[in-house]
Amino acid sequence: MDRRRFCQLVGSGIATGTLGLWPLRVLASSGGTYTVRKGDTLSGIAKMYGTSVQALRFDNGIQGDLIRVGQVLRLPTVAGDNMLSEVRRVSEPKRGGLRTWRYIVVHHSGVATGNAEIYGNYHLNKVGMKNGLAYHFVIGNGTKSGDGEIEIGPRWDRQLNGGHVKSSKVNNQGVGICLVGNFQNTRPTARQLAALNSLGTYLRELIPNQTKFAVHREIDGKNHTVCPGKYFPTAQMHKQFPDQW
Ligand SMILES: [Zn+2]
Repeated sequence: MDRRRFCQLVGSGIATGTLGLWPLRVLASSGGTYTVRKGDTLSGIAKMYGTSVQALRFDNGIQGDLIRVGQVLRLPTVAGDNMLSEVRRVSEPKRGGLRTWRYIVVHHSGVATGNAEIYGNYHLNKVGMKNGLAYHFVIGNGTKSGDGEIEIGPRWDRQLNGGHVKSSKVNNQGVGICLVGNFQNTRPTARQLAALNSLGTYLRELIPNQTKFAVHREIDGKNHTVCPGKYFPTAQMHKQFPDQW
């Protein structure tokens, strides 16, 4: 297939047929919310809830330090909470036998709705990718799967290379995480970002190699793709997950 068109291909048709290995599902648990009161600061709230300013910014799509009275902030969930229980159940036995992952690459699906099954069927039957779903994880937006739901694809379960970028080197060494949505048009939901935060934190701990977080366009170039779209908080992601090499 021509992988250059990948993110455009996803969801541009609804596939029929079945995927050999169905993705496993887990519903993200809530980390709770906090309503900003007069005199609050991001650093004060972070301290109060045992989190970081960066995590609060990331999970709420906030640039800088400006918050307003009455604003409802999503409190970050931390790795080890229920959100990750299924990811952990599947992944812990793989410690010591993981593929040599060096990249974690974030995508949007480029369409407003979907889930791992829909995209996986499309990749298998329409795009002709024999291993199905090109990503390792899909994070739902409440349309065809839960808001913040982390779906585990067969390629993670079987530790197969991804099919989510043009570069075969990065496909061979890159964990692909797709957030459902078209972030050229809308923002990711707070729960999607919280799920990404928790999943990313866990993967950093799980994978023994130094890893680099990237968004798709940083791998394949701005002229090639806008993925994951202008409303994805790329700068915050890099602050949250600095390069380790
Ligand atoms: Zn992409």
